[in-house]
Amino acid sequence: MGGTSLAVPCWLPAWPATRPAARRRPRAGPASPRLAWMTMRLTVIGCAGSFPGPDSPASCYLVEAEGFRLLLDLGNGALGALQRHAGLFEIDAICLSHLHGDHCLDMASYWVARTYSPDGPKPRIPVYGPAGTAGRLAGAQGSSLAREMPPAFSFETLTPGTRRIGPFEITADHVNHPVETFAFRLEHGGRALAYSADTGESAALVRLARGADLLLCEASFVEVPAGPGAGRAQPNPPDLHLTGRQAGQHAARAEVGELVLTHLVAWNDQAGVLAEAAGTFSGRLSLAASGRIFNLGGPGEDIQPTR
Ligand SMILES: [Zn+2]
Repeated sequence: MGGTSLAVPCWLPAWPATRPAARRRPRAGPASPRLAWMTMRLTVIGCAGSFPGPDSPASCYLVEAEGFRLLLDLGNGALGALQRHAGLFEIDAICLSHLHGDHCLDMASYWVARTYSPDGPKPRIPVYGPAGTAGRLAGAQGSSLAREMPPAFSFETLTPGTRRIGPFEITADHVNHPVETFAFRLEHGGRALAYSADTGESAALVRLARGADLLLCEASFVEVPAGPGAGRAQPNPPDLHLTGRQAGQHAARAEVGELVLTHLVAWNDQAGVLAEAAGTFSGRLSLAASGRIFNLGGPGEDIQPTR
């Protein structure tokens, strides 16, 4: 699998050494129900592409196993919806795929919450992101945060390769987007979840997703003619995002078990995006939605209806 043979930086002590010794029950948000030991649970917190939509925040996904809670991205609006599925202070680590605002801006709000909690600052948690993550987030909230953020977050710079974060083996690799962007493969209990982040067509994504149980793949663009009198003014720019058709092609090439389309932009016809993907991928297929839950390796696989 692409990227897995690269060096394995030891960024964290092995789980559960990084787990805080005493974890108080948060006052905000419910705790998640107990999971079977081998289950990896994906909860879609936000799946709106580029900006929050009427029914979903921007990108954010909660992945849980063995009581460990990892966020993939924390885009604008996601911190509120997150509290429906996890306690505000129950997050153990965060991976940011890239530094576009719709994938990271609620980190600034989360810093406020963790720092100014009425019962005192919360323990530092690791945040993995591209080079420059701390400065980018400080700029989003106010320049003084470059100094003040480190007590809340331990920033670790992502590089391609495989590392262990909590109970997960996580492989990151660069994908095809105008800024440095990482797609992820998370493995736990013999199951694999792949997340495209934002990308144009990408051989690295196909390698990363190879044989995954579930590929959470962006489908920001639609295949419509461009030009005067056509469906859109300009053709889809290259090396930026995928159409539903292209997402399906990536899933088919990677031979994944299930494809969930995400990063859905509010002005698109989502039924059309789904239909595009159905033309190139014959497996289990659906659209992401805020609040959808997928249990990989446990009972109650995908509790929501799919096509
Ligand atoms: Zn982006």
